[in-house]
Amino acid sequence: MRCNLCGGQDATLVYTVRGWPIVRCACGLVYVAADPAGIDFTALYADRYPPEAFLPQRPRKVAKSHRELARLERLTDGRRILDVGCSYGFFLDTARQRGWSVAGVEVSESAARFAQETYGLPVYAGPLSDAPYAPGSFDVVTIRHVLEHVPDPLGMVLDARRLLAPGGLLLVAVPNFDSLAARLFGPEWWWVDPPTHLYYFTRATLSRLLAQAGFVTIAHSTERCDDETIAFYLVFVLNQRLGPLRRLRRGASARPGADNGVTPRARPSAHSARLWSHVRQAGELLERLSWPLGTILDRAGLGAEILLISRWPAVVVHAAREPTAPATPVLSP
Ligand SMILES: [Zn+2]
Repeated sequence: MRCNLCGGQDATLVYTVRGWPIVRCACGLVYVAADPAGIDFTALYADRYPPEAFLPQRPRKVAKSHRELARLERLTDGRRILDVGCSYGFFLDTARQRGWSVAGVEVSESAARFAQETYGLPVYAGPLSDAPYAPGSFDVVTIRHVLEHVPDPLGMVLDARRLLAPGGLLLVAVPNFDSLAARLFGPEWWWVDPPTHLYYFTRATLSRLLAQAGFVTIAHSTERCDDETIAFYLVFVLNQRLGPLRRLRRGASARPGADNGVTPRARPSAHSARLWSHVRQAGELLERLSWPLGTILDRAGLGAEILLISRWPAVVVHAAREPTAPATPVLSP
């Protein structure tokens, strides 16, 4: 399989997880060396993200959405936003409350339906490449925790660019393969999850991917864990290491198969859901205690998630108003 970033085939093995080889290209990009044609993505995602797994995360996701939207509002006056992989619609619902004109794209039909029916959001159920939007329809496109899932991240970024108005912003968030947690836990890091996660980006490889699509990075940061508390993730790693508790969280684990590439995962039982709700509560406390440490890691670029905002510089742009952003060079498209 060729590298999505440089097209090369000169890759070395990082480690193998559940039979899936994860390799690092000579250019630095880390990815699962498997032919996507051998993976049945419909079966992989059919039952993977049930609402009961996401609804407890809503308060954290809404708080985070407000932070991200406030950041975008400092960088652009445009208020037309497309969220790619909008899931259950928490982010878009928050954006609409802040006055944005919103649209979403979601491949999971059940999640798209939830967002449409629960929040009345305009969500297209299908891949971004098929979405029925005119070129230049949006001032901002967000792709959060999606690029690591798709076989062709560069293609997805190019699709996003087509939908952006000149000077539009692209916000991308992905797990950070350079994070302290990824370094400490190696193959047991919670976001090492082939074949669901096919790419393992660092800030350097993500920036280069965006540059290849014509974007100029104007702001970046790393953030603590996306949806859960630190305690939740530590218990997750212990589960991975110790084995016996593993089924509580993950159900039957996905393994490569001869036919469709994966076996579906079981839904968590009521008992395990209760247990995880206790872990979440304990985690909230630990999270408050460890907040200063998390902030230091984020500042050092070691946070678990990379958040990068880039601009498609089809117009002359002046220095960004975001305090941390460098002066943006003037480029033509
Ligand atoms: Zn490469």
